[in-house]
Amino acid sequence: MIEQYILEITAELSKANNIVIVPHKGPDGDAMGSTLALMHFLKDKGHNANVIAPNEYPNFLKWLPGNDQVIIYDESKKLADDIIEKAEIIFTLDFNDLSRCGDMQQALEASEATFIMIDHHQEPANYADYTYSDTSMSSTCEMVYHFIERLRAKNKITPEIASCLYTGIMTDTGSFRFSSTTPNTHRVVADLIEKGAENSKIHQDVFDTNSESRLQLLGVALQNLKVNRQFRTAYITISQEELDAHNFKKGDTEGFVNYGLSLDGIVFAAIFIENKQEGIIKISFRSKGDFSVNTFARAHFNGGGHNNAAGGRSEMSMNDTIVEFNKLLPEYKEQLQA
Ligand code: 5GP
Ligand code: MN
Repeated sequence: MIEQYILEITAELSKANNIVIVPHKGPDGDAMGSTLALMHFLKDKGHNANVIAPNEYPNFLKWLPGNDQVIIYDESKKLADDIIEKAEIIFTLDFNDLSRCGDMQQALEASEATFIMIDHHQEPANYADYTYSDTSMSSTCEMVYHFIERLRAKNKITPEIASCLYTGIMTDTGSFRFSSTTPNTHRVVADLIEKGAENSKIHQDVFDTNSESRLQLLGVALQNLKVNRQFRTAYITISQEELDAHNFKKGDTEGFVNYGLSLDGIVFAAIFIENKQEGIIKISFRSKGDFSVNTFARAHFNGGGHNNAAGGRSEMSMNDTIVEFNKLLPEYKEQLQA
């Protein structure tokens, strides 16, 4: 799909100086890896490129090269609005709808810049001038690699760019184990290691930097695990009180949902995390096989994502949310029952 546009995009890039690159709210490894990789690539080409993230991201991503240049919209609204206003091109990476940018949505909608979407989520919205969407891709980072490849600039991938792209592919594929991991993913990753991504160090920097309180919060989450064998479903709840008691920091619950899915015979897992400040329960869904959590999250929890990994939210109390969730399972008995 990007082939037909690549000449036009090349022409747009040759005209533009000011470029803004945006990840989704609650940026993860793929969102930060892809935006920072593209920032380095465009800066090296001589553009004035800025990454503006809607809000903060976890500490385990703060070692990423270029981290110190990221502008956080929530914290520097005025500066960010000025930069967005001057942007000639805005890249939106790793999300499919401007509503996923939180409070930044308005400023983006007001912009006259050329929008380029690079994303691997289902059902992309129609806001971009150029939409590079491929749901078969493991990650947006893998797509940024192909984007650079199609600009015939693979030789411009520096160790910094390679490290950023490697990080997003690694985190979005659960360290290369999800079914989205293809032979091509491994080819891309092999090339990134050759181009200077220190794979073992990156893994340590992301996964082996736990605090005691985070591991103890995992203990609480696992104690709260509920298993419903009838519908091959497992879910975890974490209340605001439990978060507070364990010095919760952004990103601390990353990956917890996968423990439910690691149970033998379970095909659907969820985690419900209370956020009193926003007045919501933030939910992550995961599945194995054909049960589409994207469809489920869209239909019932104002969310979306991929077939096997999606998110959503509830504005009800934790108790009511769980009651509602359990009530929905029988509707999917064809897919959930063995
Ligand atoms: P996570 O559960 O790790 O936050 O997200 C899993 C996947 O679903 C990610 O690709 C993420 O971008 C997407 N996702 C998470 N929350 C939402 C949401 O509220 N709405 C939509 N459309 N996608 C989401
Ligand atoms: Mn992603």
